[in-house]
Amino acid sequence: MEGVWKIFGDFAAVKEMNLKIKDGEFMILLGPSGCGKTTTLRMISGLEEPSKGQIYIGDKLVADPEKGVFIPPKDRDIAMVFQSYALYPHMTVYDNIAFPLKLRKIPKQEIDQRVREVAEMLGLMELLKRKPRELSGGQRQRVALGRAIVRKPQVFLMDEPLSNLDAKLRVKMRAELKKLQKQLGVTTIYVTHDQVEAMTMGDRIAVINAGELQQVGTPDEVYNNPANIFVGGFIGSPPMNFLDATLTEDGWVDFGDFRLKVLPDQIEALMEQGYIGKEVIFGIRPEDIYDAFFAQVKIPGENMVKVKVEIVENLGSEKIVHLRVGNLMFFGAFPAESKVREGAEIDVVFDMNKIHIFDKGTKKAVI
Ligand code: ATP
Repeated sequence: MEGVWKIFGDFAAVKEMNLKIKDGEFMILLGPSGCGKTTTLRMISGLEEPSKGQIYIGDKLVADPEKGVFIPPKDRDIAMVFQSYALYPHMTVYDNIAFPLKLRKIPKQEIDQRVREVAEMLGLMELLKRKPRELSGGQRQRVALGRAIVRKPQVFLMDEPLSNLDAKLRVKMRAELKKLQKQLGVTTIYVTHDQVEAMTMGDRIAVINAGELQQVGTPDEVYNNPANIFVGGFIGSPPMNFLDATLTEDGWVDFGDFRLKVLPDQIEALMEQGYIGKEVIFGIRPEDIYDAFFAQVKIPGENMVKVKVEIVENLGSEKIVHLRVGNLMFFGAFPAESKVREGAEIDVVFDMNKIHIFDKGTKKAVI
């Protein structure tokens, strides 16, 4: 997508989208409700025409309003899977999967071979004679996938295809879908607002907010090096803590109620960019604040902070703790075996290797 816009009336749903998706890649479009993910996908599919910009599939220009180019969906060699996977209720599983091939007048024998191949891959062999109403939600979703992959298109477009499934099945299908995509090697663009789905399935994630692309990167990149406060706060659960702070001349992040010593290479980077002495936004993930009692790291004394434990949420696998210093509140995520109690005063350690500093004005990451 090159400089792609979609404008509805006077509302820009997608703004200046530049996104290159590699051949065979599993790309996730991730963002909150209404950010423009579906509109982006619909423009790639041809269900929606861009207001401006160019869309290519492979070398082929499929949409460019300025040149009057618009290739309709049926000629784009794509297959789509949606949240509400409309199967034909009167057709068997076999006929549902075979349908796109019949439409293209493929010989019967080849259809039979391809349907069986796909059914085998998706574990549907036993169900080929059933009608959709005789299937579970997960089985129906697999039939919808089967119908999409039977054609071996150039691109799969998927819009929250797992969101109608219950939590357990979703986790299972997540892994199956990822495996299947790798097996088929077909470029896949997958829309979701679920950051766990994005992190676990995507080769890369395109994070979108308010119609604008915020960052494109591997799950590790967007998690460890968020480009701005939006990405830092959207990816990760519980979200990253953000605190207003000042960077002092002698190398501390000063929060008023407490302060932390910045590491030498961080000071250097901050100095180079002219942030020493300035107000910034400090970010740290809850899992990077340790219960000092359990901390494995060698603790530089400066970064130990006395905090009040206000609330402890026990998730079984870990404990989410609401911590307070003076008027400042932030979250920690402690190991399950931590003995923290509500109301206690404890020491915590900030892992300074994991901190983020954002510009107060632009909200962009500085380090
Ligand atoms: P969700 O996760 O809720 O599906 P989304 O990120 O997919 O959200 P879109 O469906 O792409 O969001 O919508 C982006 C914005 O464009 C929304 O504010 C929506 O109201 C608006 N929008 C979408 N389609 C139209 C349309 N046909 N006419 C006017 N506005 C539209």
